Amino acid sequence: MELQKSGWLFPKWRFFVSKTQYFELSNREYQQAREARLVNIGSHRGRTLWWTDSGFFWADPDLSDEEVELLAWDRGQRQEAKLDRLRKIRARGKDITEARRRAIPGEIRAFVWQRDDGRCVQCGSEDDLQFDHVIPVAKGGGNAVDNIQILCGDCNRQKSDSIV
Ligand SMILES: [Zn+2]
Repeated sequence: MELQKSGWLFPKWRFFVSKTQYFELSNREYQQAREARLVNIGSHRGRTLWWTDSGFFWADPDLSDEEVELLAWDRGQRQEAKLDRLRKIRARGKDITEARRRAIPGEIRAFVWQRDDGRCVQCGSEDDLQFDHVIPVAKGGGNAVDNIQILCGDCNRQKSDSIV
């Protein structure tokens, strides 16, 4: 739906349904339409254009106000649900990218294991050992050997507590 504002002293709003055909509303009508929940703007090629809570809506001409309102509401709901779904999918994609960035290559792990003698570099524990990014990935740290160390679970938790 293309919207064009024309006129300066008495602006008009044109809603183009094709290159040459449009519905024209005065500025006042347009403002009223924006505030109203439901406005019948006009008919074109056997269908009726409505202004609704959730924007423009084309409907069959034999539908009542209430039916148009319901259909427009349904469209708004479905759109919201779809946007939610898309947001989740995009967030999941970011999680996967993040996990890939975090994954420490095997040869780096082997090197660090040798260098740190297979124990926590903080307390010397040999239990619950984890490879830790000295500078966290989220803060720009990479997977180079000098940014990886062995920590036990306790020391790692203490460290992340102090970073937050
Ligand atoms: Zn430790």
